[in-house]
Amino acid sequence: MTAKIIDGKAFAAGVREKVAGHVARLINDHGITPGLAVVLVGEDPASQVYVRSKGKATIETGMKSVEHKLDPETSQADLLALIDDLNNDETIHGILVQLPLPAHLDEDLVINSISPAKDVDGFHISNVGLLGTGQKSMVPCTPLGCLMMLRDHHGSLSGLDAVVIGRSNIVGKPMAQLLLGDSCTVTIAHSRTKDLPEVARRADIVVAAVGRPEMVPGDWIKPGATVIDVGINRVDAPEKGEGKTKLVGDVHFESASAVAGAITPVPGGVGPMTIACLLANTVTACSRANGLDEPEGLTA
Ligand code: NAD
Repeated sequence: MTAKIIDGKAFAAGVREKVAGHVARLINDHGITPGLAVVLVGEDPASQVYVRSKGKATIETGMKSVEHKLDPETSQADLLALIDDLNNDETIHGILVQLPLPAHLDEDLVINSISPAKDVDGFHISNVGLLGTGQKSMVPCTPLGCLMMLRDHHGSLSGLDAVVIGRSNIVGKPMAQLLLGDSCTVTIAHSRTKDLPEVARRADIVVAAVGRPEMVPGDWIKPGATVIDVGINRVDAPEKGEGKTKLVGDVHFESASAVAGAITPVPGGVGPMTIACLLANTVTACSRANGLDEPEGLTA
């Protein structure tokens, strides 16, 4: 079998288009421009790139983008004061604090100081609890993107066996909650799981979110299963020339795509969906804040 490639880039373009359509309606029918504020503390180069692309994508959908770039030495009190200002700013509907924060700042405290209604990353403890109890919440962007692609491919996920490899708070755990919410039978596997290959082989859906290059080979995959590869790992690529590198996922694409029914590539799979879902969450937050209908197909 050769797997269908789930094109995350094309899917993300469709999500962005839907977001832009909803933004246009909010502006034209209600005079409301959704606004996203991104806060970056310090000068981490990767974080700077992420923040820049989030800002650009926000503007492209017609929303307002505000960037706050703070000194690496910024005190916790100053950061909390800024978040408080943004919480009270009616033109801002989504707030994202780029992680990781410098070591002197308390990440949990900072995230939990964001108003849950504006927490477009879905990391606030209230949103975690709401998701866990099946209530309306802001859903973390990466797992939301995975869910959208799975729903699109399968239609209903009800009754399917899903194995999520990885139990992080930002990917593994919320992914498992979302799959449970769609009535999958969910197993969360992690570094201490016994006989992981056997566990993975039971799954109709495998979501790999580990951060280990190509650790899931094709013989861990049930024939016809759907494989969602969240991992982004930079590895040496001597075949491209001396000193060259490339991105690979947590799944060994070549062997897995020979067995799976459908698979997301890296790059071009889950990655583009993450920013698209951040935009989706911002327009959802704006709609909710104004008591308006949520955009269809952009929430969990
Ligand atoms: P993390 O390091 O917080 O968590 C990794 C998880 O993998 C842990 O729960 C750990 O128990 C598990 N694990 C480690 N070794 C294992 C093993 N040998 N067998 C089974 N499980 C094992 O990582 P994260 O933040 O969840 O990210 C995971 C991967 O996803 C990384 O490659 C990251 O870059 C990527 N990621 C991609 C996106 C995206 O937009 N596509 C977003 C977030 C994270």
